[in-house]
Amino acid sequence: MQQPITPGVLEVITGPMFSGKSEELIRRLKRARIARQRVSCFKPDIDLRYHRTSIASHSSQTHEARTVATVEELRAALFPQLAEIEVVGIDEVQFFDPAIIPLSLELVALGKRVLMAGLDTTFNNEPFGPVPALMALADKVTKLSAVCMVCGQSAIHTQRLGQSQELVIVGAAGMYEARCRTHFQPAMDDQHSEQLELSTQI
Ligand SMILES: [Zn+2]
Repeated sequence: MQQPITPGVLEVITGPMFSGKSEELIRRLKRARIARQRVSCFKPDIDLRYHRTSIASHSSQTHEARTVATVEELRAALFPQLAEIEVVGIDEVQFFDPAIIPLSLELVALGKRVLMAGLDTTFNNEPFGPVPALMALADKVTKLSAVCMVCGQSAIHTQRLGQSQELVIVGAAGMYEARCRTHFQPAMDDQHSEQLELSTQI
């Protein structure tokens, strides 16, 4: 592979649900396309929110994305076309296993611009999967806030509503709310273990 003239960059877009992460990712991908850069976008096979073949924001913006179950599958899908790709977007990155971290650094070393969006904390208020490490290693971190649904202040937490034992369905209407520090209540332990189970399934 031809050596890149300039190194790539890793950009992480994070924050709670309803903070506009996917919307910001889509915006950056669209700008890259307007600049005639070639873009490839992925998401984990877990986001049942709206579409199986695109990323979607809560404000109905969409961008074509390939669904992959694992980091290995992502690598297998991306690398054959990598020479023609300048920008790699990954949404809901919190659900990928830690192998996404060396993969992202490898892509940056190959001169790619890597854009990642994902939740920074779980519903139990713990750092979520690979996102904290990606934030530490990134060139640029954009941490967005949402609006607390109780008081209207800036919200950094995602509140899980109800006691459903069903698998987490990302973005399912009515199951989550953005909350500020004052009004956030961490999920119970059983919900936490359910969430861990989910993040290690894929
Ligand atoms: Zn509040």
